[in-house]
Amino acid sequence: MKSVIALVGRPNVGKSTLFNQLTRSRDALVADRPGLTRDRQYGLGKVGERSYLVVDTGGLSGEAETLDTLMAQQTLQAVSESDVVLFLVDAREGLSGADEAVAARLRVMGKPVLLVLNKTDGLDPDATAAEFHSLGIGAPIPIAAAHGRGIQGLMRRVWEHLPDSEAEEQEHEAFWPGIRIAFVGRPNAGKSTLMNRILGEQRVLASDIPGTTRDSIFVPFQRDEKQYTLIDTAGVRRRARVHDAIEKFSVIKTLQAIDASDVVIFLLDAQQGIAEQDAHLLGLVMDAGRALVVAINKWDGLSPDQRERVKADLDLKLPFLDFAEKRFISALHGTGVGDLFAAVERAYQAARIKVSTPELMRLLDQALAMHQPPLVRGRRIKLRYIHQGGKQPPIFVIHGNQTDALPASYKRYLSNWFRQQLQLVGTPIRLEFRTGE
Ligand code: GDP
Ligand code: GDP
Repeated sequence: MKSVIALVGRPNVGKSTLFNQLTRSRDALVADRPGLTRDRQYGLGKVGERSYLVVDTGGLSGEAETLDTLMAQQTLQAVSESDVVLFLVDAREGLSGADEAVAARLRVMGKPVLLVLNKTDGLDPDATAAEFHSLGIGAPIPIAAAHGRGIQGLMRRVWEHLPDSEAEEQEHEAFWPGIRIAFVGRPNAGKSTLMNRILGEQRVLASDIPGTTRDSIFVPFQRDEKQYTLIDTAGVRRRARVHDAIEKFSVIKTLQAIDASDVVIFLLDAQQGIAEQDAHLLGLVMDAGRALVVAINKWDGLSPDQRERVKADLDLKLPFLDFAEKRFISALHGTGVGDLFAAVERAYQAARIKVSTPELMRLLDQALAMHQPPLVRGRRIKLRYIHQGGKQPPIFVIHGNQTDALPASYKRYLSNWFRQQLQLVGTPIRLEFRTGE
């Protein structure tokens, strides 16, 4: 599972500015789709070869009476789920009582904490840093998040506290066989019920496979002679053994599972209808570029009218899901559950497609012949060359001139064209544009 970095500090110290810096490399990858907004609190980031999850906790004010608020509780949950905490303080404001209160709070949580002194631009870092030593968290690391300064040095310090994710990832590739499936959805959507149903029908017990432990959240199983690994963030298997432990829903664990998976099965609760949180969680799936199958669960017990309403709502509220297969299921009764696997297989294969350069060039030429890119400042935008730059999801890199000026509508046109022509269902695709002048 990917390491988690939590950003903590009182309001206005620069957490969201730093969040943007740490997740910036993903910006180009965020799907350009109606109805989807980029998550400003949870993000995936990458520096060099190392990737991580970042959570902007939204902040602790440091005032005791607010610690019971929902925001404070969420901050504390994020801190307890993180691997390292970046505690931001403001070089311009100087040390405040609120900083001291936050420091005291963090100290008892026993997580590695790095003290980050932000807004050092135009200041003498040594002079401003001096007073912050008294927090007892070690020497402040000076940065200027707004200018991207000091971030590399900061990240080098962060790595000291994180496991070597690359080595771990390779190990993990080799260890968990078959297609890895994450079950994602808001609390009560039916994830545990679906996982139990699937595992109840499995032929090979996880504990029969060497090296697997009962506590692992990775659960290998077989179905129709095919190997899969289920990623259990809902704690289904532990819950079955330890009756009291009803795990709290965690966006961080959800994001880690999405990241570790090949295909996400996203559960919607047809009886509750589509909620804000569904769009939010789907945004995280899209941001990660995962292959996706949408399972509309609890289809049992709905009248024909209600069913029509849910279907209309899907198109209205989640139009960006047009690329994914939708299956209407009942995890409780098992209806439609078997069909999910064919859809998972198709989505997986689509995400791993390899398209040759000549084939892509042919499709690009056809697309350009039908609709030319627009003129910008009297010059036509030229798209000259395309090749595949990656898979899971498929990335197509298009080289040309003035590609920065390409309108979103034209990008969508190309994206839809490639999707249709390559018959890609179940995976997002990404187009990257490079100007080669
Ligand atoms: P948050 O409330 O902790 O998320 O803080 P924000 O990221 O919203 O930043 C608060 C303010 O500080 C904004 O006006 C930022 O532009 C400013 N800010 C953030 N980083 C820097 C920095 O490195 N230098 C300066 N001078 N201002 C900064
Ligand atoms: P989770 O929080 O996403 O893991 O959701 P659970 O699997 O714990 O399910 C929440 C509730 O929904 C439980 O009471 C389940 O029995 C019920 N439930 C799950 N799937 C279905 C279904 O297909 N139909 C109906 N009617 N209820 C379901």
